[in-house]
Amino acid sequence: MVGAGVVGLSAARALREDGFEVTVYEKDRVGSRLGSSPGRSRIYRRSYRHTDYVRLARRAIEEWKRLDPGVLRNTGLLEYGSGVELHAAALDACGEPYRWLEPAEASALFPEARFDEPVLYDEEAGAVMADEALRALARGLDVREGHLVADPRELEADVICACPGSWLGPMFGLPLSPRIEQVVYFAGAPETRPSLIDHGGPGRRLHYGLIAPGIGYKVGEDAAQPDLWDPDREDRPIHPGLVERLVEDVRVKLPGLDPRPVHAEACLYTMSPDGDFILDRIDNVIVFGGDSGHAFKFAPLLGRLIADLASGRPLPPEADRFRADRLSAASA
Ligand SMILES: Cc1cc2nc3c(=O)[nH]c(=O)nc-3n(C[C@H](O)[C@H](O)[C@H](O)COP(=O)(O)OP(=O)(O)OC[C@H]3O[C@@H](n4cnc5c(N)ncnc54)[C@H](O)[C@@H]3O)c2cc1C
Repeated sequence: MVGAGVVGLSAARALREDGFEVTVYEKDRVGSRLGSSPGRSRIYRRSYRHTDYVRLARRAIEEWKRLDPGVLRNTGLLEYGSGVELHAAALDACGEPYRWLEPAEASALFPEARFDEPVLYDEEAGAVMADEALRALARGLDVREGHLVADPRELEADVICACPGSWLGPMFGLPLSPRIEQVVYFAGAPETRPSLIDHGGPGRRLHYGLIAPGIGYKVGEDAAQPDLWDPDREDRPIHPGLVERLVEDVRVKLPGLDPRPVHAEACLYTMSPDGDFILDRIDNVIVFGGDSGHAFKFAPLLGRLIADLASGRPLPPEADRFRADRLSAASA
């Protein structure tokens, strides 16, 4: 296995459950700050625009609970903004329960936040403790930190898997775009507050928020820095202008929080052209990448699917959208 991020570790764990002897090569260390999986927390949810993701998210939550229910904080998710009704339609189509809340009802769940439109409430959602999840996944695995694999194809093993995050594109000639994503933490929200997704609208990007116990309430503006980022750069700089923009946003949307940032950090998204993941076999290597900023919640299930592919078991129809050849078809 190449890569000890959340997906590589999940796949290594599933392969080991299937009886494989697994070695994980990681060029840095588990939870590398240069990758996409570091930090305290990530949103998990069932609510998605497409039924494939709703079904996969449901299975992923069960996989997290099977791994360690303690890594999930079931705080719920409050979601609003442009297109949220499409999420409701997908949940309906999959028979997944949710509720519509009036702004006052949403405020009762999150008094520090301001709501001025109907809110979709996904009760079976919240925050997964990212650092604890990485530790739980790595427990008992043979992880070789500080071991860079130049070309996974050259590894000698019955099964070779590569989950190298932002480094997958150049490794397999895939059209992937690493970019830097920044988040800021604010004080003032109890650690039971729901996760938030504001899908924005005309002139307003998607914003999200979630608890990060021991640090504060984590807030981000999705895709605020669309430029390509070279993952080999050792720095992950904080953009002061973006911090200011989030502070202004918190003053308006989360007026009950203290608008003075307590911490800020940046890590990498690896965008695929259509926002869907890549999970496929290329040159006899099983690869995962193109996380597009939303793979953490799916990781233990993605690990299971990678192990299934390794053993020649069929993948669920929902995984068809992750085929690599869709990209060459799209660019043809
Ligand atoms: C700010 C931010 C907020 C996010 N919020 C959410 C959220 O709320 N919910 C959600 O579901 N997702 C979220 N995500 C996305 C999620 O974190 C990623 O999708 C996920 O972490 C991807 O994991 P990975 O294992 O694919 O990649 P990484 O974690 O990047 O793992 C790849 C590993 O491979 C190693 N590697 C690379 N090349 C080599 C090589 N040649 N040899 C050896 N090792 C190598 C790297 O060092 C790295 O450790 C967020 C991401 C960011 C950046």
